[in-house]
Amino acid sequence: MASVSPPRYCQSCGGALLPATPHADKKAPYFCAACAQPVYLDPKVAVAVVVRTGGGIVMLRRAQKDQAHGKWILPGGHVDRGEEVTTAAVREVREEIGLEVELTKLVGVYSYPDNPWVLVVYEALANGGAPMAGDEALEVAEFAVEDIPWEDFGYQSTADAMHDLLDDQG
Ligand SMILES: [Zn+2]
Repeated sequence: MASVSPPRYCQSCGGALLPATPHADKKAPYFCAACAQPVYLDPKVAVAVVVRTGGGIVMLRRAQKDQAHGKWILPGGHVDRGEEVTTAAVREVREEIGLEVELTKLVGVYSYPDNPWVLVVYEALANGGAPMAGDEALEVAEFAVEDIPWEDFGYQSTADAMHDLLDDQG
């Protein structure tokens, strides 16, 4: 997922945040220069979906110009605060590849050291719409399992989730 900018201002008083010194509470990476309040950083939650159609598994080539640009990824994105994760999954698939889906199973939850993102991955069956590239995709394609572009994935989590799902099914 995209990188997360560090916070700059205190949510209590609007004062500037400073990095905590090494001998301070290590769990609070910032403190407010004005009110001295420690500032904790929560993980960010994202969701991705392995969508199965009659043609295989639907993936998209990422349009955004970042380190995963042009690589194959699963449809997915941020979970909004207060939004059910399952609702976000269905919404992101609709927005990114134009398909309606029914979630069928939780594939896994993926997180990595020094990475703020926690990724929840579901498997789903397409039950409406037709695959099409939204604004965030250069291309959308359906891959038979034997044709999955393992060497051209945008994220470690894509490979980890696909392995967990497909190794499971033999
Ligand atoms: Zn403050």
